[in-house]
Amino acid sequence: MKALVILGDGMADEPIDMFGGKTPLQYAHTPYMDKLAELGVTGRMKTVPDGFHPGSEVANLSVLGYDLQKVYEGRGVLEAASIGVTLQAGEIAMRCNLICIEDDKIKNHSAGHISTEEADILIKYLEEKLGSEQVKFHTGVSYRHLLVIKGGDKRLDCTPPHDVPLQPFRPLMIKPEVPEASDTTKLLNKLILKSQELLKEHPINLKRIAAGKDPANSIWPWSPGYRPAMQTMQEMHGFRKGAVISAVDLIRGIGVYAGLDVINVEGATGLYNTNYEGKVQAALEALRTNDFVYLHIEASDEAGHEGDVALKVKTIENLDHRVVHPIYEALTTWNESVAIGILPDHPTPCAIRTHTNTPVPFIIYKPGEKPDSVTKYDEFSIEKGKFGILEKDQFIKVLLG
Ligand SMILES: [Zn+2]
Repeated sequence: MKALVILGDGMADEPIDMFGGKTPLQYAHTPYMDKLAELGVTGRMKTVPDGFHPGSEVANLSVLGYDLQKVYEGRGVLEAASIGVTLQAGEIAMRCNLICIEDDKIKNHSAGHISTEEADILIKYLEEKLGSEQVKFHTGVSYRHLLVIKGGDKRLDCTPPHDVPLQPFRPLMIKPEVPEASDTTKLLNKLILKSQELLKEHPINLKRIAAGKDPANSIWPWSPGYRPAMQTMQEMHGFRKGAVISAVDLIRGIGVYAGLDVINVEGATGLYNTNYEGKVQAALEALRTNDFVYLHIEASDEAGHEGDVALKVKTIENLDHRVVHPIYEALTTWNESVAIGILPDHPTPCAIRTHTNTPVPFIIYKPGEKPDSVTKYDEFSIEKGKFGILEKDQFIKVLLG
């Protein structure tokens, strides 16, 4: 049986007073997810293994059945893969933010959400001035770029810049976790300070300042990793061909290392205005020629980060009406059966506006297979589901098995 995962990023939440103690998933009108819960089997999945932070890269790798202890190398390498940079052995990839520093403090982690066009000019300038056999800068999207270091040691203590707004940057610079990493540490900290000298007077920044925008006046490298030792999904699960559809670099990068075709959908933004219909069409088309399709929708996570409960409900209803509904309807007309799995990667509760590691509710619907007694899809209804709490590769094995 072919299989489709519909992943609503950050969709799970906590009870909200404004909704009479219901979660957004309980409060939202979701007839199609409820229908699949009724027709399928349900449970919870622990997507964030003990000892890992509840990042989307961790949770999505888990959903796909990867052992984080073996494959986790940070987000830099995954984003690298999504922009076409596949690492060689002995190279470290790091996420390299363009940030704004004011009065020696990190004003923001995004250089005022600088445009990709402006950032590209700055990154190319840094590559020209600071690039070498050992050091390479690559342009990514907006403030999110990539730094590759040949022959470095990744055992570095780095600070994610979004965690430290308005804090002085100097005490937060990179530190070695082991003595062997001290050369790499020195190199990186030198690059940070040099970037500040070079970017200060750059015309792009002078123009941004004149327009009242934040200048991109420093790089900030973090999340170092080597090439991940990931088997492809084909090798792990014995299917022939798979695909991933996502607007998010991290997920696309996971797809590259997982051996999945990365399908581009015009107008897929990762926000509420994303091209749902285009993504649904692409998923259905991909299912014609692939055995496995991973359809990732980011919008509900963004709503959670904004703490906007009404918007979160809307993104969940959009997922239900504009994704689950048309896919379910289309597949019922196919001769071939397709298993459908629905779940978030992690909760992004509106109250705290960040991810948690609470196990997430899932549905697995396989046409013709016996359902459990659950008839609604939300964080609490599925507690009576067939599976209790799954972990490691159990979810994907049930879906694909
Ligand atoms: Zn996520």
